[in-house]
Amino acid sequence: MTAPPRLEVQSLTRSFNGQAVVENVSFSVEAGQVACLLGPSGCGKSTTLRLVAGVDMPDSGHILVDGKTMCDAATHVPPERRSVGLMFQDFALFPHLPVSENVAFGLKGGFSANRDRVRELLARVQMSSHIDSYPHQLSGGEQQRVALIRALAPQPRILLMDEPFSGLDERLRDGIRDETLALLKEEGTAVLLVTHEPDEAMRMADQILLMRRGRIVQQGAPYNLYNAPVDREAAGFFSDIN
Ligand code: ADP
Ligand code: MG
Repeated sequence: MTAPPRLEVQSLTRSFNGQAVVENVSFSVEAGQVACLLGPSGCGKSTTLRLVAGVDMPDSGHILVDGKTMCDAATHVPPERRSVGLMFQDFALFPHLPVSENVAFGLKGGFSANRDRVRELLARVQMSSHIDSYPHQLSGGEQQRVALIRALAPQPRILLMDEPFSGLDERLRDGIRDETLALLKEEGTAVLLVTHEPDEAMRMADQILLMRRGRIVQQGAPYNLYNAPVDREAAGFFSDIN
């Protein structure tokens, strides 16, 4: 028997004030795979992510993790029991905690109970020397690395990332994208990454979910979308990539 997908989303719909913001959205993400939800601002990407995280509830549809129902008409598993890690654009590190405690935040017993795991993760992102630093003493790129390993520390089944690179200096961005991708692949995490930048999706995704006005209009491997866009609007979206 083949294992069920790490994440499966079926016919998800969410409306606000009678307006469908996410409409009949279905996709799945396998273990070790990075799926990019790509589309212009306002198309419903963050709303989809919030539904998967469990901080918002759909009007209809199903969400399954490892084949187990997290959400349907009768079920709502709360966010802390979904084994989902979150990482947002502003990193949201705790300013009053040193790097060690930030990284250990999702682990039972904090840093004192998880010294080895925290040190190993810091070493993997070349941040060992910053273990006692506070967030304000770090550059944007360094804060991003701490936020990434904090999200990975509890070994979530799925990592949800909402525009995680858009706050970074453009000159650093490609390097940090590559580093992040390497770490995600080493950990074997399934990732759902939201972005409005086609080049980011092309660079990072195994699978692109192209979203527009609440719907997924095309999905597949990056080069399939690039080479055979579903329509003119999709072609225009990818045409800026060099
Ligand atoms: P994206 O992340 O793709 O930029 P969002 O998912 O944040 O888009 O938002 C999609 C649409 O849903 C937007 O028009 C936004 O204003 C609307 N929206 C999102 N959350 C709410 C809410 N809680 N109440 C009302 N409208 C919302
Ligand atoms: Mg958004």
